[in-house]
Parts: sequence; structure tokens; C-alpha cells
Amino acid sequence: MDDSAAALAARDLAVLWHPCTQMHDHERVPMIPIARGGGAWLIGADGRRYLDAISSWWTNLFGHANPRIAAAIAEQARTLEQVIFAGHTHAPAVELAERLLAVAPPGLSRVFLADNGSAAVEVALKMSFHYWRNRGEGERRRFIALTGGYHGETLGALAVSDVGLYRETYAPLLFERLLAPSPDAWESLPGESAADVAARRLDELRALLERHAHEVCAVIVEPLVQCAGGMRMYHPSYLTGLRALCDAFRVHLIADEIAVGFGRTGTLFACEQAPPTAPGARAGITPDFLCLSKGLTGGFLPLSAVLTTQRVYEAFYADYSAGKAFLHSHSYTGNPLACRAALATLDIFRDEPVLERNLALAAHLAARLAPLAEHPHVADVRQTGLIAAVELVADKITRTPYPAAERRGLRARLAALERGVVLRPLGEVIYAMPPYCTTPEEIDLIVDAIAAGIDAACR
Ligand SMILES: *Cc1c(COP(=O)(O)O)cnc(C)c1O
Repeated sequence: MDDSAAALAARDLAVLWHPCTQMHDHERVPMIPIARGGGAWLIGADGRRYLDAISSWWTNLFGHANPRIAAAIAEQARTLEQVIFAGHTHAPAVELAERLLAVAPPGLSRVFLADNGSAAVEVALKMSFHYWRNRGEGERRRFIALTGGYHGETLGALAVSDVGLYRETYAPLLFERLLAPSPDAWESLPGESAADVAARRLDELRALLERHAHEVCAVIVEPLVQCAGGMRMYHPSYLTGLRALCDAFRVHLIADEIAVGFGRTGTLFACEQAPPTAPGARAGITPDFLCLSKGLTGGFLPLSAVLTTQRVYEAFYADYSAGKAFLHSHSYTGNPLACRAALATLDIFRDEPVLERNLALAAHLAARLAPLAEHPHVADVRQTGLIAAVELVADKITRTPYPAAERRGLRARLAALERGVVLRPLGEVIYAMPPYCTTPEEIDLIVDAIAAGIDAACR
């Protein structure tokens, strides 16, 4: 790092406090000042280039400083940057709602906007609870979440999350949720396929619903991939069965596609991959609430959306005196700049063969990653669309994990960084979630960095 970059890093460490970070680590781990971005690359303040293999926390879909999205925001900034979203509206928000509903699973007809993923989850939880209350079923006040799930870190979102690292300290502050076992294919019993695990977990969920459905508002899940919980992947038949169970037991289904939405898993939304219930029937499920954020603005601005059904909307629609109105507001709700960034992102999906290209890129990534499975400490190489993960263990036969205190994932991160690739392992799960503009050659660099990361981690 040159002097000016090092000076910037030092000034940062004097005044800032970073997320998901023990700041003490930065006594030995460098803080990297980034000056610019372009395509899949970040360019450091010292001119060093870093390939962003994790799309900057899964937000950046079409490359950094994407000219099309940047131009849309610039134009909007000169026109209308912000307006109170109660009692007022604007074209970017209206158009965004129309276009999201047009591409979302059928049956969703209302869009509520917020400004980050956790807020979208809070909205869905509150809306579901309030729906039942407005319908005279206020005794429903519990939520069912999956083990290993992650839905954000505000208190409500954290309450339905099950990742110990983020949860444990704050557990005394969180409302109690019911946990159903994740359909995670990693937890298969000998001889079980991923579909078998899904079927077994549905039986367990059914048993939970039999006991508790009367007091439950909703089941919340991350469709197909539990991301922050370790990129754990499951069979799409779980989603089909989950929709059927939620219908049978009359509870809502909240699909948190904050990470997996917008083409990440191979389809625009992961819910589309749920297999049909019968031959000839339509594939895909429609949740009662669909939470979107992260990739929604192509990684440019914070924005989130909760899509829901007319049925839910109507339970709130009444004379003011009935006191049924949904109450949840953020100052920046429906920010025009963010809505325009989202529209430009949807334009790219409309005008370019994004999903086809992703399919080819995912196939290339899979082919390059496959040999890593031979490594004596790699217990699993798994992939769903453009999410690929390698899980390291101390003992491959018994799948005994490395002690968390050894922080082998951190070693992998630093080894990749030396090669100019940004990775951020989740414990001993090293993953790639590259921007969709990544080239096959850049994928090769990422896989080489993962291989180097594995060696560094297992040393
Ligand atoms: C990131 C994430 C969230 C939280 O979004 P933030 O914008 O970070 O608050 C919620 N759910 C899932 C599945 C996520 O990956």
C-alpha cells in the first residue's frame, strides 16, 4: 500500500467503526481503501486491483459504476432526489411497483417499500401479524423460522434468524420464535438424496404446525440457499411442500429473497424453481410476502420491497376509525434515486439475456470448482446458480468441523487478497457470488484464489 492509501486506512481506523468486524483485528489485517470500481473489479486507493468475487456483500449485479445505472441515478438526482412518501408519490416508485409485480410470481399485487433488507423483513413480520389481528386472530403472534436461517440483524429480523454469531449476544432482547429443521442437503442421512431430506424436513414442519399453527402468523424461509448461515443449499421440492403446508394450516409464507432474488439462483426469483405439484401443473410458488433488497438496485443504493397479495392488502383497507392501517415508516421510504436505480437494473434484465449468460457462467464455475472436491479437507463443493461454496472440515469422513477459534476462513480470505481477489468466507465455508458481468477468465482467477485460500486455511 502506498503512503496516501495507508494514511487513509489510518484515518479510517481513528474514527470509524465497521460492521461485522472486531476492530482489533485491524491491528494485523489491513483495511483496504477503495477509490473506484469498474466491472467486477475494485480499484484500491493505491491503484491495486481486486476482483470482487462476492459482489460486495451480494449487492452488485452488473459491475461497479455500471454506466447505465449511474446515468439513471444522475438524471434523477437533477430532477427529484427525495420527497415525503406519505400523501405524495412519484413516477419512479409507481413504475418500479408495476414492473416488480409484472416479473414477480403470479398473485402478488401490492408493493411496500423500505430501505434495507432487515427493514423488509420487519415489514413482512409486522404485516403478517397485523393481518391476522385485523381479521380477529390476534392470538397469532409467533413465527416459524428454519435452523441456520438469516434474515438480518435488526431485533425482529434477528429474532427469526438462527446464526449463532450474530444472535447469541443479543438473544435476551429477542422475541421467541419456533424453529423448524432446515432442509439443508448437507444434513442428509446415509443414502438420502437432497429430495429425501426435503421430504423428511417437511414431515417435521408438519408436526410443528399441528401443534402450533393456531398461534403462528407465518413461516419465514430463504428459498433454495441459506446464505449467511453458510451457503447451505436445499432441494426445491421443499418450497412446493412448504407452500402446501402453509395453505393447509392457514399460515403465511414469507419468502426472503433478499440475497437469492434477481437471477442469483438461475431464475429471476428462487421461488420459481419449486417443482409443480402434479405433472402439467405450473412450476413455482407464490409466497404471501416476498422480500427483496440487495441486488434490487444493482448494488447502487439501499432499497427494499415487500410484495404481497390483494388478500393481505384488503385486510388493512377500512375506514380510518377502524384503526386497521399498517404502520411502518422510514424517512427514506420510496426514495426516487433508489427507485430509479432499481428501474435501470430491471431494464438490464429486460434488454440483455442475463439469465442465459448466468447459466453459462455458472456451468463454467462448476467445471472449474469440481476438482477442489478432491482436497483432503474439502467436505463439500456445492452450487446453485451463481452461488458456489466449498466447505472445509478437520475430518472429511466424519465431517468434524475445525474449531471456530482457529479462524481458518480468515486465513483463506487473506490468501485470496494477496492474489487480488476479494473473498469473505463464512467460517470455514469459502464461497463465490460474483457479479453477473464476470468473465470466464475472471471466474478462473476466483477459483485459483479459492484454491489458494483452501491451502492457506488448511495449513
Ligand atoms: C442480507 C440479508 C438480509 C438483511 O439485509 P440488510 O440489507 O443487510 O439489512 C436479510 N435476509 C437475507 C436472506 C439476507 O441475505
